[in-house]
Amino acid sequence: MWSLPLLRHTDVPPRVTENFILSGYRFPDYSLLQCLVSAFRPTNETGNFWTHFLPIFLFAFHFLEIFKWEGAPNPGDPFFYPAWNYFIGVFYLLLASSMAHLLNSMSLIIREICFFVDYGTISAYTVGSSLAYYYYIHPQAGIPKIGVGAQNATGTQSDRGEGPSSPPPSCTTSSFYSSLLIFRPFFESLYIPCSCFIAIVCVITCCNTRQRWRKYRYIVRTLVFLLPFFISSTPVFYRLLSPSPYPPNSPLPSPYPSSTMAVFFYRHCFWLVVSAVFNISKIPERLSPGKFDIWGHSHQWFHCCTFLSILDELHMIKVEIRALLLHPSLVPALTTPPQLPGPTLCSTYGVMMLLQGCIASIIVWFGWCAYQIYAPEQKRLKVH
Ligand SMILES: [Zn+2]
Repeated sequence: MWSLPLLRHTDVPPRVTENFILSGYRFPDYSLLQCLVSAFRPTNETGNFWTHFLPIFLFAFHFLEIFKWEGAPNPGDPFFYPAWNYFIGVFYLLLASSMAHLLNSMSLIIREICFFVDYGTISAYTVGSSLAYYYYIHPQAGIPKIGVGAQNATGTQSDRGEGPSSPPPSCTTSSFYSSLLIFRPFFESLYIPCSCFIAIVCVITCCNTRQRWRKYRYIVRTLVFLLPFFISSTPVFYRLLSPSPYPPNSPLPSPYPSSTMAVFFYRHCFWLVVSAVFNISKIPERLSPGKFDIWGHSHQWFHCCTFLSILDELHMIKVEIRALLLHPSLVPALTTPPQLPGPTLCSTYGVMMLLQGCIASIIVWFGWCAYQIYAPEQKRLKVH
Protein backbone atom coordinates (compact mmCIF):
# COMPACT_ATOMS: atom_id res chain seq x y z
CA MET A 1 0.00 0.00 0.00
CA TRP A 2 2.84 2.35 0.92
CA SER A 3 4.76 1.30 -2.14
CA LEU A 4 2.16 2.29 -4.75
CA PRO A 5 4.25 4.24 -7.21
CA LEU A 6 3.77 7.96 -7.58
CA LEU A 7 3.48 8.99 -11.19
CA ARG A 8 4.56 11.73 -13.53
CA HIS A 9 2.04 13.96 -15.28
CA THR A 10 2.48 11.96 -18.48
CA ASP A 11 1.45 8.71 -16.74
CA VAL A 12 -2.00 9.81 -15.52
CA PRO A 13 -5.12 10.82 -17.47
CA PRO A 14 -4.88 14.46 -18.62
CA ARG A 15 -7.97 15.18 -16.53
CA VAL A 16 -6.00 14.63 -13.33
CA THR A 17 -2.99 16.83 -14.11
CA GLU A 18 -2.42 20.29 -12.67
CA ASN A 19 -0.52 23.04 -14.45
CA PHE A 20 3.23 23.10 -13.68
CA ILE A 21 3.00 20.07 -11.35
CA LEU A 22 5.08 17.36 -13.01
CA SER A 23 5.25 14.50 -10.50
CA GLY A 24 3.81 13.06 -7.30
CA TYR A 25 0.49 11.99 -8.89
CA ARG A 26 -1.67 9.11 -7.70
CA PHE A 27 -3.39 7.02 -10.36
CA PRO A 28 -7.20 7.49 -10.17
CA ASP A 29 -7.99 3.92 -9.11
CA TYR A 30 -7.09 3.99 -5.40
CA SER A 31 -9.29 2.26 -2.83
CA LEU A 32 -10.72 4.31 0.05
CA LEU A 33 -8.10 2.90 2.42
CA GLN A 34 -5.25 3.67 0.02
CA CYS A 35 -6.51 7.25 -0.27
CA LEU A 36 -6.66 7.64 3.53
CA VAL A 37 -3.17 6.22 3.95
CA SER A 38 -1.84 8.55 1.26
CA ALA A 39 -2.32 11.41 3.75
CA PHE A 40 0.86 10.17 5.41
CA ARG A 41 3.05 9.87 2.35
CA PRO A 42 4.35 12.72 0.22
CA THR A 43 2.11 13.01 -2.85
CA ASN A 44 1.17 16.25 -4.56
CA GLU A 45 -2.13 16.24 -2.61
CA THR A 46 -0.68 15.63 0.88
CA GLY A 47 -0.02 19.32 1.58
CA ASN A 48 -3.43 20.25 0.18
CA PHE A 49 -5.06 17.85 2.63
CA TRP A 50 -3.23 18.94 5.77
CA THR A 51 -3.47 22.69 5.07
CA HIS A 52 -7.25 22.46 5.44
CA PHE A 53 -7.53 19.53 7.84
CA LEU A 54 -5.40 20.83 10.72
CA PRO A 55 -7.10 24.27 10.67
CA ILE A 56 -10.39 22.57 11.65
CA PHE A 57 -9.01 22.12 15.18
CA LEU A 58 -7.53 25.61 15.35
CA PHE A 59 -10.81 27.14 14.21
CA ALA A 60 -12.83 25.08 16.72
CA PHE A 61 -10.48 26.16 19.52
CA HIS A 62 -10.95 29.87 18.75
CA PHE A 63 -14.67 29.48 18.16
CA LEU A 64 -15.51 27.66 21.39
CA GLU A 65 -13.93 30.48 23.38
CA ILE A 66 -17.10 32.60 22.99
CA PHE A 67 -19.04 30.33 25.35
CA LYS A 68 -16.68 31.10 28.21
CA TRP A 69 -17.20 34.84 28.05
CA GLU A 70 -18.84 36.85 30.76
CA GLY A 71 -22.56 37.27 30.11
CA ALA A 72 -22.67 34.48 27.52
CA PRO A 73 -25.84 32.40 27.58
CA ASN A 74 -25.55 28.65 27.26
CA PRO A 75 -24.35 27.35 23.86
CA GLY A 76 -27.86 26.19 22.93
CA ASP A 77 -29.40 29.65 23.43
CA PRO A 78 -30.99 31.24 20.32
CA PHE A 79 -28.42 34.03 20.64
CA PHE A 80 -25.80 31.59 19.41
CA TYR A 81 -27.82 30.05 16.54
CA PRO A 82 -26.14 32.28 13.91
CA ALA A 83 -22.72 31.58 15.43
CA TRP A 84 -23.32 27.84 15.24
CA ASN A 85 -24.41 28.17 11.61
CA TYR A 86 -21.23 30.07 10.87
CA PHE A 87 -19.29 27.30 12.61
CA ILE A 88 -21.09 24.62 10.55
CA GLY A 89 -20.30 26.55 7.35
CA VAL A 90 -16.58 26.79 8.11
CA PHE A 91 -16.36 23.24 9.49
CA TYR A 92 -17.94 21.73 6.34
CA LEU A 93 -15.78 23.90 4.11
CA LEU A 94 -12.51 22.79 5.71
CA LEU A 95 -13.57 19.16 6.04
CA ALA A 96 -14.94 18.88 2.48
CA SER A 97 -11.92 20.62 1.01
CA SER A 98 -9.39 18.42 2.82
CA MET A 99 -11.36 15.25 2.03
CA ALA A 100 -11.76 16.27 -1.62
CA HIS A 101 -7.98 16.45 -1.94
CA LEU A 102 -7.49 13.15 -0.14
CA LEU A 103 -10.16 11.04 -1.85
CA ASN A 104 -10.02 12.42 -5.38
CA SER A 105 -7.85 9.57 -6.65
CA MET A 106 -10.55 6.92 -6.17
CA SER A 107 -11.87 7.43 -9.70
CA LEU A 108 -12.39 10.15 -12.27
CA ILE A 109 -16.07 10.35 -11.34
CA ILE A 110 -15.42 10.56 -7.59
CA ARG A 111 -12.79 13.20 -8.31
CA GLU A 112 -15.42 15.37 -9.99
CA ILE A 113 -17.93 14.81 -7.17
CA CYS A 114 -15.29 15.65 -4.53
CA PHE A 115 -14.75 19.04 -6.08
CA PHE A 116 -18.47 19.69 -6.63
CA VAL A 117 -18.91 19.11 -2.88
CA ASP A 118 -15.96 21.43 -2.25
CA TYR A 119 -17.60 24.27 -4.22
CA GLY A 120 -20.90 23.56 -2.48
CA THR A 121 -19.42 23.92 0.97
CA ILE A 122 -17.61 27.15 0.03
CA SER A 123 -20.97 28.58 -1.05
CA ALA A 124 -22.72 27.34 2.10
CA TYR A 125 -19.96 28.95 4.16
CA THR A 126 -20.70 32.36 2.60
CA VAL A 127 -24.31 32.03 3.76
CA GLY A 128 -23.13 30.99 7.25
CA SER A 129 -21.09 34.21 7.32
CA SER A 130 -24.09 36.22 6.15
CA LEU A 131 -26.21 34.83 8.99
CA ALA A 132 -23.54 35.78 11.53
CA TYR A 133 -23.19 39.26 10.00
CA TYR A 134 -26.95 39.68 9.88
CA TYR A 135 -27.46 39.03 13.55
CA TYR A 136 -24.24 40.32 15.09
CA ILE A 137 -22.96 43.09 12.79
CA HIS A 138 -26.22 44.42 11.40
CA PRO A 139 -26.79 47.99 12.58
CA GLN A 140 -30.14 46.90 13.97
CA ALA A 141 -29.21 43.42 14.97
CA GLY A 142 -32.45 42.85 16.87
CA ILE A 143 -30.47 40.89 19.40
CA PRO A 144 -31.72 42.95 22.36
CA LYS A 145 -35.17 41.42 21.75
CA ILE A 146 -33.99 38.06 22.95
CA GLY A 147 -32.80 36.95 26.33
CA VAL A 148 -29.32 38.37 26.26
CA GLY A 149 -29.30 41.78 27.86
CA ALA A 150 -33.08 41.84 27.72
CA GLN A 151 -33.34 43.79 30.93
CA ASN A 152 -31.09 46.54 29.70
CA ALA A 153 -32.43 46.75 26.16
CA THR A 154 -36.10 46.50 27.02
CA GLY A 155 -35.74 49.18 29.61
CA THR A 156 -34.10 51.64 27.28
CA GLN A 157 -36.57 51.04 24.48
CA SER A 158 -39.72 51.39 26.54
CA ASP A 159 -38.24 54.44 28.21
CA ARG A 160 -37.65 56.01 24.83
CA GLY A 161 -40.93 54.95 23.25
CA GLU A 162 -39.59 55.90 19.82
CA GLY A 163 -41.09 54.95 16.47
CA PRO A 164 -38.93 54.16 13.46
CA SER A 165 -39.42 57.68 12.10
CA SER A 166 -38.67 59.52 15.30
CA PRO A 167 -35.45 61.52 15.51
CA PRO A 168 -32.36 59.69 16.65
CA PRO A 169 -31.04 60.11 20.14
CA SER A 170 -28.46 62.77 20.67
CA CYS A 171 -25.68 60.21 20.73
CA THR A 172 -25.89 59.62 17.00
CA THR A 173 -25.62 61.91 14.01
CA SER A 174 -28.50 62.50 11.65
CA SER A 175 -26.48 61.20 8.70
CA PHE A 176 -26.09 57.89 10.46
CA TYR A 177 -29.80 57.74 11.05
CA SER A 178 -30.80 58.60 7.47
CA SER A 179 -28.33 56.14 5.98
CA LEU A 180 -29.78 53.52 8.29
CA LEU A 181 -33.26 54.17 6.88
CA ILE A 182 -32.05 53.76 3.29
CA PHE A 183 -30.17 50.62 4.13
CA ARG A 184 -32.89 48.98 6.17
CA PRO A 185 -35.28 47.72 3.43
CA PHE A 186 -32.46 45.91 1.63
CA PHE A 187 -31.18 44.49 4.81
CA GLU A 188 -34.44 43.35 6.33
CA SER A 189 -35.91 41.58 3.35
CA LEU A 190 -33.24 40.99 0.72
CA TYR A 191 -29.90 40.39 2.41
CA ILE A 192 -30.26 36.70 3.34
CA PRO A 193 -32.25 35.71 0.19
CA CYS A 194 -29.60 37.49 -1.93
CA SER A 195 -26.81 35.63 -0.13
CA CYS A 196 -28.54 32.29 -0.75
CA PHE A 197 -29.23 33.09 -4.40
CA ILE A 198 -25.64 34.15 -5.04
CA ALA A 199 -24.38 31.01 -3.26
CA ILE A 200 -26.43 28.83 -5.62
CA VAL A 201 -25.17 30.77 -8.67
CA CYS A 202 -21.61 30.20 -7.41
CA VAL A 203 -22.05 26.44 -7.08
CA ILE A 204 -23.55 26.13 -10.55
CA THR A 205 -20.84 28.30 -12.12
CA CYS A 206 -17.93 26.55 -10.37
CA CYS A 207 -19.30 23.08 -11.19
CA ASN A 208 -19.58 24.21 -14.80
CA THR A 209 -15.92 25.25 -14.87
CA ARG A 210 -14.97 21.59 -14.55
CA GLN A 211 -16.46 21.00 -18.01
CA ARG A 212 -16.51 24.39 -19.72
CA TRP A 213 -14.21 27.40 -19.68
CA ARG A 214 -11.40 25.03 -18.63
CA LYS A 215 -8.68 27.43 -19.70
CA TYR A 216 -9.97 30.21 -17.45
CA ARG A 217 -11.24 27.98 -14.66
CA TYR A 218 -9.11 29.46 -11.86
CA ILE A 219 -9.94 33.04 -12.83
CA VAL A 220 -13.65 32.26 -13.17
CA ARG A 221 -13.80 30.43 -9.82
CA THR A 222 -11.93 33.22 -8.04
CA LEU A 223 -14.07 35.98 -9.56
CA VAL A 224 -17.27 34.07 -8.89
CA PHE A 225 -16.49 33.96 -5.18
CA LEU A 226 -15.95 37.73 -5.10
CA LEU A 227 -19.69 38.16 -5.58
CA PRO A 228 -20.82 36.51 -2.32
CA PHE A 229 -18.03 38.38 -0.55
CA PHE A 230 -19.46 41.74 -1.64
CA ILE A 231 -23.03 40.77 -0.82
CA SER A 232 -22.39 39.22 2.57
CA SER A 233 -20.00 41.99 3.62
CA THR A 234 -22.55 44.79 3.15
CA PRO A 235 -23.25 45.10 6.91
CA VAL A 236 -19.52 45.46 7.52
CA PHE A 237 -19.18 48.10 4.77
CA TYR A 238 -22.11 49.88 6.34
CA ARG A 239 -20.56 49.84 9.79
CA LEU A 240 -17.22 51.03 8.46
CA LEU A 241 -18.74 53.91 6.50
CA SER A 242 -21.10 55.07 9.23
CA PRO A 243 -20.13 57.35 12.07
CA SER A 244 -19.80 55.69 15.42
CA PRO A 245 -23.26 54.82 16.76
CA TYR A 246 -21.90 54.80 20.29
CA PRO A 247 -22.30 57.71 22.68
CA PRO A 248 -19.13 59.85 22.87
CA ASN A 249 -18.97 59.42 26.63
CA SER A 250 -20.08 55.85 26.64
CA PRO A 251 -19.18 53.96 29.76
CA LEU A 252 -17.47 51.27 27.67
CA PRO A 253 -14.62 49.85 29.69
CA SER A 254 -12.98 48.75 26.45
CA PRO A 255 -12.21 50.87 23.36
CA TYR A 256 -14.91 51.28 20.76
CA PRO A 257 -15.08 47.78 19.28
CA SER A 258 -15.63 48.80 15.66
CA SER A 259 -12.02 49.95 15.37
CA THR A 260 -10.92 46.41 16.22
CA MET A 261 -13.60 45.03 13.93
CA ALA A 262 -12.23 47.17 11.09
CA VAL A 263 -8.69 45.86 11.62
CA PHE A 264 -9.89 42.27 11.46
CA PHE A 265 -12.01 42.98 8.40
CA TYR A 266 -9.11 44.60 6.51
CA ARG A 267 -6.90 41.65 7.39
CA HIS A 268 -9.66 39.28 6.28
CA CYS A 269 -9.72 41.11 2.90
CA PHE A 270 -5.93 41.12 2.66
CA TRP A 271 -5.72 37.34 3.05
CA LEU A 272 -8.50 36.86 0.51
CA VAL A 273 -6.62 38.96 -2.04
CA VAL A 274 -3.36 37.07 -1.41
CA SER A 275 -5.15 33.73 -1.72
CA ALA A 276 -6.71 34.87 -5.02
CA VAL A 277 -3.26 35.88 -6.31
CA PHE A 278 -1.88 32.42 -5.51
CA ASN A 279 -4.89 30.68 -7.06
CA ILE A 280 -4.74 32.60 -10.33
CA SER A 281 -1.00 33.11 -10.77
CA LYS A 282 0.10 29.54 -9.90
CA ILE A 283 3.23 30.98 -8.33
CA PRO A 284 5.70 29.53 -7.29
CA GLU A 285 5.39 26.36 -9.42
CA ARG A 286 4.94 28.46 -12.57
CA LEU A 287 8.43 29.90 -12.04
CA SER A 288 10.05 26.52 -11.57
CA PRO A 289 7.89 23.63 -12.83
CA GLY A 290 8.65 20.39 -11.03
CA LYS A 291 10.35 21.99 -8.03
CA PHE A 292 7.22 22.44 -5.91
CA ASP A 293 5.40 19.25 -6.90
CA ILE A 294 5.03 17.93 -3.34
CA TRP A 295 5.52 20.85 -0.97
CA GLY A 296 5.07 24.59 -1.41
CA HIS A 297 2.91 24.80 -4.53
CA SER A 298 0.37 27.57 -4.92
CA HIS A 299 -2.69 25.56 -3.86
CA GLN A 300 -1.18 24.95 -0.43
CA TRP A 301 -0.50 28.69 -0.01
CA PHE A 302 -4.02 29.35 -1.27
CA HIS A 303 -5.37 27.06 1.47
CA CYS A 304 -3.24 28.75 4.16
CA CYS A 305 -4.36 32.22 3.11
CA THR A 306 -8.04 31.30 2.91
CA PHE A 307 -7.84 29.86 6.40
CA LEU A 308 -6.14 33.00 7.73
CA SER A 309 -8.92 35.06 6.16
CA ILE A 310 -11.51 32.85 7.89
CA LEU A 311 -9.70 33.21 11.20
CA ASP A 312 -9.73 37.01 10.93
CA GLU A 313 -13.40 36.89 10.00
CA LEU A 314 -14.06 34.81 13.10
CA HIS A 315 -12.18 37.36 15.25
CA MET A 316 -14.26 40.15 13.70
CA ILE A 317 -17.51 38.35 14.50
CA LYS A 318 -16.25 37.62 18.02
CA VAL A 319 -15.54 41.30 18.61
CA GLU A 320 -19.17 42.10 17.78
CA ILE A 321 -20.54 39.22 19.85
CA ARG A 322 -18.49 40.40 22.79
CA ALA A 323 -19.80 43.93 22.42
CA LEU A 324 -23.37 42.60 22.32
CA LEU A 325 -22.80 40.48 25.41
CA LEU A 326 -21.12 43.20 27.41
CA HIS A 327 -23.17 46.18 26.31
CA PRO A 328 -26.49 45.11 24.80
CA SER A 329 -27.93 48.58 25.28
CA LEU A 330 -25.02 50.25 23.49
CA VAL A 331 -25.15 48.27 20.26
CA PRO A 332 -26.35 50.27 17.28
CA ALA A 333 -29.83 48.84 17.70
CA LEU A 334 -30.33 51.42 20.42
CA THR A 335 -30.44 54.26 17.88
CA THR A 336 -33.74 53.00 16.49
CA PRO A 337 -35.99 50.33 17.91
CA PRO A 338 -34.89 46.94 16.59
CA GLN A 339 -37.16 45.93 13.75
CA LEU A 340 -35.73 42.50 13.19
CA PRO A 341 -36.75 39.54 15.26
CA GLY A 342 -33.96 37.73 17.04
CA PRO A 343 -32.51 34.55 15.57
CA THR A 344 -34.87 31.58 15.43
CA LEU A 345 -34.39 27.96 14.43
CA CYS A 346 -36.17 28.68 11.14
CA SER A 347 -34.23 31.82 10.27
CA THR A 348 -30.82 30.22 10.93
CA TYR A 349 -30.70 26.41 10.78
CA GLY A 350 -33.80 26.38 8.54
CA VAL A 351 -32.15 28.67 5.97
CA MET A 352 -28.93 26.70 6.13
CA MET A 353 -30.67 23.33 5.68
CA LEU A 354 -32.76 24.61 2.79
CA LEU A 355 -29.63 25.92 1.11
CA GLN A 356 -27.74 22.68 1.72
CA GLY A 357 -30.67 20.79 0.18
CA CYS A 358 -30.53 22.96 -2.97
CA ILE A 359 -26.75 22.58 -3.19
CA ALA A 360 -27.00 18.81 -2.72
CA SER A 361 -29.51 18.61 -5.61
CA ILE A 362 -27.16 20.63 -7.84
CA ILE A 363 -24.26 18.32 -6.93
CA VAL A 364 -26.36 15.23 -7.68
CA TRP A 365 -27.20 16.69 -11.10
CA PHE A 366 -23.58 17.54 -11.94
CA GLY A 367 -22.46 14.19 -10.49
CA TRP A 368 -24.84 12.38 -12.84
CA CYS A 369 -23.49 14.37 -15.80
CA ALA A 370 -19.91 13.54 -14.72
CA TYR A 371 -20.85 9.87 -14.49
CA GLN A 372 -22.13 9.94 -18.07
CA ILE A 373 -18.92 11.57 -19.27
CA TYR A 374 -16.30 9.66 -17.28
CA ALA A 375 -17.76 6.15 -16.83
CA PRO A 376 -16.45 4.90 -20.22
CA GLU A 377 -13.02 6.47 -19.62
CA GLN A 378 -12.81 4.97 -16.13
CA LYS A 379 -13.63 1.53 -17.55
CA ARG A 380 -10.78 1.89 -20.06
CA LEU A 381 -8.39 2.81 -17.22
CA LYS A 382 -9.34 -0.36 -15.35
CA VAL A 383 -8.77 -2.54 -18.43
CA HIS A 384 -5.21 -1.27 -18.84
ZN1 LIG B 1 -8.18 23.00 -2.32
